[in-house]
Amino acid sequence: MLSVRDAEATILNAVQPLDNQRDIEFVDLLTAQNRILATPIISSLDFPHWDNSAMDGFAVRYADVQQARTDKPIILEVVEEIPAGYQPQVTIKPGQAARIFTGAMMPAGADSVIMQENTHQQENRVFILAAPQPQEFVRHKGDFYQAGKELLPAGIILTASEIAVLAAAQRDQVGVFRRPRVAIFSSGDELVMPEEPLQPGQIVDSNQYALATLVRELGGEVLLLGIIKDDPTALKEIIDYAIANADIVLSSGGVSVGKYDYIDSTLESLGAKIHFRAVQMRPGKPLTFATFPNLLYFGLPGNPVAALVTCWRFVQPTMKKLAGLAKGWEGKFLKVRSHSQLNSNGKMETYIWGKLHLINGVYEFRKAEGNDSSGNLINLAQTNALAILPVGKTLVYPREEVLVLQL
Ligand code: AMP
Ligand code: MG
Repeated sequence: MLSVRDAEATILNAVQPLDNQRDIEFVDLLTAQNRILATPIISSLDFPHWDNSAMDGFAVRYADVQQARTDKPIILEVVEEIPAGYQPQVTIKPGQAARIFTGAMMPAGADSVIMQENTHQQENRVFILAAPQPQEFVRHKGDFYQAGKELLPAGIILTASEIAVLAAAQRDQVGVFRRPRVAIFSSGDELVMPEEPLQPGQIVDSNQYALATLVRELGGEVLLLGIIKDDPTALKEIIDYAIANADIVLSSGGVSVGKYDYIDSTLESLGAKIHFRAVQMRPGKPLTFATFPNLLYFGLPGNPVAALVTCWRFVQPTMKKLAGLAKGWEGKFLKVRSHSQLNSNGKMETYIWGKLHLINGVYEFRKAEGNDSSGNLINLAQTNALAILPVGKTLVYPREEVLVLQL
């Protein structure tokens, strides 16, 4: 059976990231939050735009004040006051200084700033009480960024710090990748919507809700296609529709070896390339991955825990790569101490759901309480990590280190 690692490599290999020409959309800067930048940003502005002061103090000529000491102050004539936002009018000549404030433009002629704590002003004279370093407290034009270079690379997520940079560069509109479109449907004769009365034998289609939420968390646009009966004709129709309208299809149910599991045969009849039908993992063994031109199809197990675990493990990096993220789409794996004893049959790579707790600055994994049947959706609530026992590992002792996937 295919290992998890090989399954992941097969999937990620098949991912064709969105195109930065065809799949770009322009959004207002304030709505660009959490979107992925589609093209590099180059600014025609230098940062800083002009030499300016890093301190409240006095702009001086270094040559005038290099001998200044508390007991031998240098006295300069103050010829101008330069607040932030004001363009200096006077050139500083030998023996002169300008009162200046943080962020204000340096006047011509001056090259250094004395912080006001090292000065003493008396009307239009200032006593310089300490010598500065040459150019001290001057932020020079282009020190932080030179016009024409790459300001931000493509493929990064826009968060507060990048949005600030874009605003400073006067980009009020920004080109981002469109959201990946993900079609979701559930298959099973037993499934009903949450608002419908439950008849004996029926259960609510919770997968649709779980998957839609996860896809949105990952920045995707959801196309919810509802519940489809275990019927090859109905399945064929919906899959046909989904492949024409999405980048990724997530179906759940109908991929095991039961009599009513029709997903794989339907995919075959539609000409899909089926890459695999099972992965050596638990939960999540019955997982079908197939491709059509420009479309990735995940036939997830119906079991709600398995559906989510396989999504966290495989669909999450897939969506990030497809969405245009340049790097960092792989899962976040950490080695932490396990509080709980963890067991596996050793035959499958085993995923145990639970929670990472931060204890005195160190993460610790605690397995979810209650029945750990993969049919138990209830104790999946509050999960923020999956502990992973590799094939061959049957036991992790309390306090032993374990690999976890942080969600
Ligand atoms: P299947 O993969 O279709 O054999 O389903 C495996 C188990 O998951 C069965 O107990 C189903 O009733 C359950 N199941 C299938 N689909 C869903 C769904 N959309 N929501 C909740 N449970 C489901
Ligand atoms: Mg079923």
